[in-house]
Amino acid sequence: MLIGPQNSTLVVNHVRSRISQAATAAGRDPATVTLVAVTKAQTAETIRAAATAGVTDFGENYLQEALAKMERLAELPLRWHFIGGIQSNKTRIIAERFDWVHSIDRLSVARRLSEQRPFHAPPLNVCIQVELVPEPNKGGVSPSEVEQLAAAVAPLPRVCLRGLMCVPPPQANAAAERAVFARLRILLEELNARGHKLDTLSMGMSADFESAIAEGATVVRIGTALFGHR
Ligand SMILES: *Cc1c(COP(=O)(O)O)cnc(C)c1O
Repeated sequence: MLIGPQNSTLVVNHVRSRISQAATAAGRDPATVTLVAVTKAQTAETIRAAATAGVTDFGENYLQEALAKMERLAELPLRWHFIGGIQSNKTRIIAERFDWVHSIDRLSVARRLSEQRPFHAPPLNVCIQVELVPEPNKGGVSPSEVEQLAAAVAPLPRVCLRGLMCVPPPQANAAAERAVFARLRILLEELNARGHKLDTLSMGMSADFESAIAEGATVVRIGTALFGHR
């Protein structure tokens, strides 16, 4: 079942109960896992239905598409997460309109976001995107580059480095999914052992969020399970 005007509460509650079960099975408090509804290719009205069903956090990949919807939903108190590839000439509008950016993969973009974050807004929450499994044309830094980038991003005054994010390709089974997500968790633990205070693991999508939660995901980004195939 997928979100439409009539059944959005049912669909959201079903996904939330799967999140809760996965958290409980891992000995975790379900409240430590935030659902970000990924709404690329969905309309503003679909987002409104999800918001009515209690979703507060929305993820978008494409800036122009996101801005048009944000405009239409301006009266709703939603948190917006940018999760797509970032062009340097688009950082100002991202810094102005979003609450989170999950897809930092280079220092120049983080610097621009920090410089361009409006003074009246709190620091922009950011995650570094890590490419755990090498793939062509996927964003993210390699695991060996994470520490250096984190050290450079953390001191920027108008962004707040919150953690790490990944978008691994589909794996053959749950054990393989967990092995990939465990690597992101370990990278975060290593950063914290070096003095960072990172609290966010943004990992897990419709096909693999239960495995991600088992490995410590604090943010799951879910599109298809809520809204159907794009
Ligand atoms: C599209 C997308 C998602 C959601 O994927 P689903 O499989 O539809 O749940 C999550 N994260 C990123 C970065 C995406 O691009």
